[in-house]
Amino acid sequence: MSPLRDPYDETPAAVFRNVSFAYPGTDRALIENLNFTIRQGEFVALIGPSGCGKSTILRLLNRLNRPVQGDVEIPGGHLCGYMPQQDLLFPWRTVLENIRLPLEVQGGLSAASMDARAKEILSSVGLEGWGEKLPRELSGGMRQRASFARTLMTGADLLLLDEPFSALDYLTRLSMREWLMEQWQRDKKTILFITHDVEEAVFLSTRILAADRAPIRSLREYRVPLPFPRKESDLAGPEALSLKAQLLDMFRECECVEHCESS
Ligand code: ADP
Repeated sequence: MSPLRDPYDETPAAVFRNVSFAYPGTDRALIENLNFTIRQGEFVALIGPSGCGKSTILRLLNRLNRPVQGDVEIPGGHLCGYMPQQDLLFPWRTVLENIRLPLEVQGGLSAASMDARAKEILSSVGLEGWGEKLPRELSGGMRQRASFARTLMTGADLLLLDEPFSALDYLTRLSMREWLMEQWQRDKKTILFITHDVEEAVFLSTRILAADRAPIRSLREYRVPLPFPRKESDLAGPEALSLKAQLLDMFRECECVEHCESS
């Protein structure tokens, strides 16, 4: 078994420095003076009650929104690749045409080079031979893999994944999370992954950041003390069970706070 990856690598991949944010036209801050750092090579899960601002954190990282105060830094000017809950593949383009889209947008490569690169990535995500199909001919899990391949085609080192498996059935989710773990171990990208599934967070991540209420002023940090590669059976071990229990307690507390504040 390989040890926990890069637990001491402090090179930052994304930094929130005293960030505050409210959507224009709203008087309520969603994020207030928030500080956190994601380090290179980490797999970080971001969890918290729905509507507390997790996706907004990703939108600030990929510059779809700007902070009202503070700085969001991606040191080294690295690219962020964003993958939403729904695959958002263009239904009229073949899988290969969808995957080569980021290269078309960047420009400068011949059609043959773009296709060669797209085919390489397609086979790396286990979809060799599916390039000429339309997205509707693929299963939900395969479409998410194609969508992941398209995110990789951006060349991004920091991948922002917003509940990518939430629309999939339970068994597909189990196989997709193993698949994602393998991709991360192989590609050595930095991943920030939103999930509301505590078990998924424990299975996949090196570190969990938990938002417990809105506005988000801080994130609670939990290290996941399990070596890689992980197996489903690791989730039944004492470390995983105790971490899951802590996270569920945290969620119960949030519900209680929300209930008390709204009554
Ligand atoms: P989460 O990802 O934790 O479920 P979001 O970041 O999607 O939460 O949303 C946080 C809050 O901001 C929600 O109450 C949502 O309704 C609100 N919100 C999201 N997008 C916008 C927008 N474009 N304008 C105004 N409010 C928004």
